[in-house]
Amino acid sequence: MDYVKQTVKDYAREIGFDLVGIASAETFRDHGSVTLKRIEQGFMDGLPWFTPSRVKRGMDPNKLLPGAKSIISVGLSYLVPSEDETNSLNGKVARYAWGDDYHKVMKKRLKLFVEGISQRLNRNINARWYVDDGPMLDRAVAQRSGVGWFGKNTNIINPEYGSWIFLGQIITDLELVPDVPLKKTCGNCTRCIVDCPTSAIVAPFVIDNKKCISFLTIENRGEIPRWLRPLMSDWVFGCDICQDVCPVNVNSMYSKEQAFKKKRFTNIELTGLLEMSQEEFSVRFSNSPIKRAKLEGLQRNACVALGNTGDRTVVKTLGIALRNSSSIVRSHAAWALGQLKGKQAIKILEDSLIEETDGKVLKEIKEALIS
Ligand code: SF4
Repeated sequence: MDYVKQTVKDYAREIGFDLVGIASAETFRDHGSVTLKRIEQGFMDGLPWFTPSRVKRGMDPNKLLPGAKSIISVGLSYLVPSEDETNSLNGKVARYAWGDDYHKVMKKRLKLFVEGISQRLNRNINARWYVDDGPMLDRAVAQRSGVGWFGKNTNIINPEYGSWIFLGQIITDLELVPDVPLKKTCGNCTRCIVDCPTSAIVAPFVIDNKKCISFLTIENRGEIPRWLRPLMSDWVFGCDICQDVCPVNVNSMYSKEQAFKKKRFTNIELTGLLEMSQEEFSVRFSNSPIKRAKLEGLQRNACVALGNTGDRTVVKTLGIALRNSSSIVRSHAAWALGQLKGKQAIKILEDSLIEETDGKVLKEIKEALIS
């Protein structure tokens, strides 16, 4: 390996990245076309910022950094051991959000990396870096650089760290010899496709966002379709099922990163969420990816999860949620009360018919009463 490439790779590991590979900065024609097709097919619906023009910009690294020659592709594991949870009134959180906000952790480290590598190579390098926050086609970069292969669940999978990795990319004018993509694939395995409770993986490598629990609980700002609610179990932020069932992930190496080892939110107490004020939400989740769902989204998700518990001790709390200022929260609270049934839930639903003025919520209340 030449000196510059070796220095780049050694330094990336020295400052804590678990994985590093080099990709050329040539246009990502194939992956870009596939992504544009997914938008056309409606599989990215609900992500208004994910537009064809954004994809076209991301396909061509030279549009993001004129004079780009290489992309340094890094990965940081976030896998930490899980604990046995016994409280059925807690909602599950996807692993990537258990610790500190990965955007901040990764961005800080990428900046340090670019500064440090400039010093080591004794030259100013032009660079732009991304962590799931720009048009860069992050998974295509990881695949091209040999960091991992595309799983049928659309995640990038590394043989040692599985798919429990955050990806970062540094586009640079450094001319580096590219690595080669891994030869591995998922083979005949279809576990993630079969085990997805909402059948969101509609074909290998194709996810329909509109059915994906991760999308529904985080990015989705509106109603969760009624037919999907019972399939969502107790997920309150994201979902890990397609990763949990992946055989490659079984013996993945754990993260060494302190910011992820803290495990602040492996799950969230659902009734507490329904009682939370905006101020409390802002403070509690200020350094967590969970803030992305916003308070209204989390409370909507908490209603669905509580409706799925079958536990009537939460009826009173759902009754309070039925008076929430958000019509989205109210309509999901009505649904949850309809799932739980029982005299108390029915009385709350009937009483709310008198006060409710929102047409959609009224419809939910009526459907809950006859379900
Ligand atoms: Fe690939 Fe099987 Fe893992 Fe799905 S579960 S990503 S098919 S190896």
